[in-house]
Amino acid sequence: MVLSLPITSLFAQNRQLIPIEVQNAYKNETRSMTGQPGPKYWENHANYKIKASLLADESRLKGSESVTYFNNSPDTLKTIVIRLYQDIYKKGGTRASDISPKDVTTGVHIFSLKIDGKDVKMTTGQMSYFFGINHVVKLPKPLVPGDSLTMDASWEFHIPDISHNRMGEFGKGRFLIAYWYPQIAVFDDISGWDMVNFNGITEFYNDFNNYDVTLTTPAGYAVWTTGHLNNPKKIYAKPVLKRLKEVAKSDNIISVINQKDWNENKVLKTNRPNTWKYSARYVSDFSFAAALKYNWDASSVLVDTATGRRVRVDAIYPDSSRSFQNGARYARMSIKFMSFQMPGYPYPFEHMTSFSNGTLGGGMETPMMANDGDPTDTVNAAGLIFHEISHSYFPFFMGTNEQKYAWMDEGWATYFSGVFEDHFFPGNHYAQRFAGIFSRTSGHQFELPPIILSNSFDNWRHYSIQAYTRPYLAYKYLENVMGEKAFKHALLSYIKIWNGKHPIPFDFFNVFQNDYGKDIMWFIKPWFFGPGYADQALVKVTQSNQIIVSNVGGLPMPVHLKVEFTDGSVQNIVEPVSIWENNMNRAMVQADKNKKIKSITLGDATIPDVDKSNNHMKM
Ligand SMILES: [Zn+2]
Repeated sequence: MVLSLPITSLFAQNRQLIPIEVQNAYKNETRSMTGQPGPKYWENHANYKIKASLLADESRLKGSESVTYFNNSPDTLKTIVIRLYQDIYKKGGTRASDISPKDVTTGVHIFSLKIDGKDVKMTTGQMSYFFGINHVVKLPKPLVPGDSLTMDASWEFHIPDISHNRMGEFGKGRFLIAYWYPQIAVFDDISGWDMVNFNGITEFYNDFNNYDVTLTTPAGYAVWTTGHLNNPKKIYAKPVLKRLKEVAKSDNIISVINQKDWNENKVLKTNRPNTWKYSARYVSDFSFAAALKYNWDASSVLVDTATGRRVRVDAIYPDSSRSFQNGARYARMSIKFMSFQMPGYPYPFEHMTSFSNGTLGGGMETPMMANDGDPTDTVNAAGLIFHEISHSYFPFFMGTNEQKYAWMDEGWATYFSGVFEDHFFPGNHYAQRFAGIFSRTSGHQFELPPIILSNSFDNWRHYSIQAYTRPYLAYKYLENVMGEKAFKHALLSYIKIWNGKHPIPFDFFNVFQNDYGKDIMWFIKPWFFGPGYADQALVKVTQSNQIIVSNVGGLPMPVHLKVEFTDGSVQNIVEPVSIWENNMNRAMVQADKNKKIKSITLGDATIPDVDKSNNHMKM
């Protein structure tokens, strides 16, 4: 079969770069080479009803759930894949990093698992087997297209309290629970069932589902979650309810709960355990924080001037926090910046809660919830809060597959954070830091182009270069190629076309190519597919002051030249990335012809370069 290619198809000359699964998706019309979803695009969905109890003193979570899973695919499903994330703590589990022996468990204990009312055995055999945290179950009756099944499960697990793999108990009375309930994996048009194991490095790939979650917590705990609390009046004391009402319309930061309230017993309505009822619609996960004596600062931000929609932002933190007293302010700045500047699309969820676990740096995102550390300084605290909130766009609004293409969300979060930090904290030298990292790593054996599947990495450092550093630089230089306006336009087109779906790298490339309308393959190929590393060199200078620069490493980057003349004057020349468009090997830059050159320096702190010994010339 011959693929019909649009005129601007990025891969018309590079068909061999398209994996067979993606070529098949074009044939099956689930995707298209224009970057639009194909006419037969589909994705599966589920409704989760979960009831869980936090047994805080025992560091355990116990729950039951009833799931309805809809098969919108054209395939008849003979198996389903159930993720038991907390099996990562199981004795003998596959983990990218060591965990404390105290957190080694028998994994998720399943009291019962039923599919369409029939018991499923949790042992390896003809009807089921395990692949890492994935439990593959043969269905009692195949699930035909358009039909649904039910899964009922009851379960419990130990909440890790020493080795926190993105969630856990962070000291007494501090819980952030994510990666928790037995979850049906994604079945998609590219790979069928997602069988990627969770080894603690790569993160999310989930369908967009509906959640109704009931959480029971011991006396004295406050809870924050993805989605919407349906029974606040049963839970909170009057002053808290009153403040929450004010928050909904206020640009000011309001202390909703503080230490005085806790000490005066004015937070919760009763001194008994509470049952919190939540719902969340069309989101790719549900997580929650439960804590004793946490402060809660909140505000709301107008995110959409057309509709007047406001979003609640929360910072929740222990009173001993180093930096979260300003957390709500940073979160406000973040949501506003994202909604109006970069990416410039209204924040797409009803609230955003940044939880400080009180440990060091680092963070982890889930929809509407971030599990943040507690950095010591302003810029790192603001940067961390911004970074995790920015994941609301990628991968939570855009359902990208972080397990395979982490650069499609971590790369954007790193890029957005760069724009944010450059705007608010220009002295922090964001680009310089990443250029420095790439100068030390680019071209090494472990530094692999983004198109290599992220789950191939079992080393955090190698993964971080591939998921954060190289894609950050690639997006930044793609913006340089396209110009700020066209780049942002393409980014917004991509968001508008693919939100609520599962875009893959080729959808991103094709949307950008088509939105821009000019060839960008010369840039995309080296940066995303490789080979190529960061190394520019000075070659020679002609009689007429033409400076010849070589692209030794093959990655197209801007060319910065500082030319000193014998009369003491200096000429700084900056050539855009597109200087390499027609000749990827050599570029010619004209310095002032009427002067005599004394020395030339190539490069800049913002441009990575693995070999700076060839960047200087003295006449
Ligand atoms: Zn991130």
